[in-house]
Amino acid sequence: METETDLRRHDLLIDGKRLPPGTGEYSVDINPATEEPIALVAQGSVADVDTAVHAARAALKVWNALRAAERGRILTRLAGLMRANLDELAVLESLDAGKPISAVMRQDIPAAIDTLEYYAGWCDKINGQVVPVRSDALTYTLREPVGVVAAIVPWNFPLMIGMWKIAPALACGCTLIVKPAEITPLTALRIGELALEAGLPPGVLNIVTGKGRVVGDALVAHPGVDKVTFTGSPSVGRGILQGAASNFKRVTLELGGKSANLIFPDANLDNAVRAAASGIFFNTGQVCSAGSRILAHRDVYDEVVERLAARAKSIKVGDPAARETSMGPLISAAQMKTVLGYVETGRAEGASLVTGGARVGERGFFVEPTVFANVGHEMRISQEEIFGPVASVIRFNDEADAVRMANGTLYSLAAGVWSADIGRVHRVARDLRAGTVWINTYGYTDVRLPWGGSGDSGFGREHGDVAIENFTEPKSVWLAIDQ
Ligand code: NAD
Repeated sequence: METETDLRRHDLLIDGKRLPPGTGEYSVDINPATEEPIALVAQGSVADVDTAVHAARAALKVWNALRAAERGRILTRLAGLMRANLDELAVLESLDAGKPISAVMRQDIPAAIDTLEYYAGWCDKINGQVVPVRSDALTYTLREPVGVVAAIVPWNFPLMIGMWKIAPALACGCTLIVKPAEITPLTALRIGELALEAGLPPGVLNIVTGKGRVVGDALVAHPGVDKVTFTGSPSVGRGILQGAASNFKRVTLELGGKSANLIFPDANLDNAVRAAASGIFFNTGQVCSAGSRILAHRDVYDEVVERLAARAKSIKVGDPAARETSMGPLISAAQMKTVLGYVETGRAEGASLVTGGARVGERGFFVEPTVFANVGHEMRISQEEIFGPVASVIRFNDEADAVRMANGTLYSLAAGVWSADIGRVHRVARDLRAGTVWINTYGYTDVRLPWGGSGDSGFGREHGDVAIENFTEPKSVWLAIDQ
């Protein structure tokens, strides 16, 4: 085991330079699979945030002085460098977040690269419009960058979700300060270095690591920040919205979820249960759109529970570095405590624990894939986001009952519906309150399709052309042509 003095120190990345934090403090970053320290990470201060915001403001001019096509080429070069360093990025993400290496190589990093390449293509296609108003004037719109963006990122998909924010912001001519989650900062720091290598001017992409309560709060309060894009928990999101009111920052919030997966009796049960299992157990359930509520019709309820439990038992939980591992640990001891606490809550509320529910081993934050049956819609395990590998299977009687329960939480991020009836799937998709509905599939996201929710799941959308609108301000121009 490495001692703290052997560990690499990761400084802040501000204005193209690695800078030690003003406080001189570093936190110990640990591997959630082994609980061993893997790095020392700078604890940014309020003064560091101020330096980064000034660097980002100054860089706005430089970044926007480049031709749009040149900005696109730099982003494409960064994507190329990510591809060339895919193994290193995958290992860093796997060590830092406890994600199975196979999933990171197949999903997280390729999705981040795809996002960057998609927005690289947007750089020279962000157009205003000529809008005819009257004969004595030429009237048109410009789309200008919103300015300096603070991107606050969670730990469950550090690089992929980070890139969902970095790529469109850069494409629109914005500059950024990225604050990764304090427990998963390593890939963001590496991307900051690769971006400089790709030719991104210093100050365009700054990475300030540290505590949410310090760095996050300072970014949200800073008058030099024009927009905050946040993915994380509803409680932090609420604080960000309040803080952003200080100078009327634009805000996009991607918050939690308690997504329902509705299984009707005419569904292909093999496919439905396979997808329902990966819908809740993928990334150890630490997914905002995890299908944590499986709503099964009473005619297939017992079969769904039985098959889901069999799948849960067959999942290979263990070392994220092993290729055959399909489920790694939870991110932290705190998260493990929360998840095991919900298992106790479920039992106390009278749900039946069919499988799982316990810690695996004594080292690393591993918890068994867990299935609760006979879950009541009002129970806490059915209403609250657990953010762990815990499936609640709820019985429904008919379509109206299923839709009522699916819509019956504070969240509305995503939902799934399984049925062979073409009328039903479209009807239910229409009636579900969710930013994304999957029909006879579950869990896909793609940068070309809008992503986000409403209610406690936040507001605004990421991805696609919606993100271009998020990071630009329209300007209307009137030119008198008749004197
Ligand atoms: P979190 O809200 O605790 O932290 C998210 C980020 O906010 C971290 O970088 C953290 O350091 C920072 N932060 C914490 N306090 C802050 C403050 N006072 N001011 C500013 N920033 C602050 O969330 P988490 O535990 O990292 O992530 C889990 C949550 O994120 C879950 O609720 C999950 O559903 C949600 N999530 C949503 C999506 C989505 O797309 N909707 C995706 C992933 C995760």
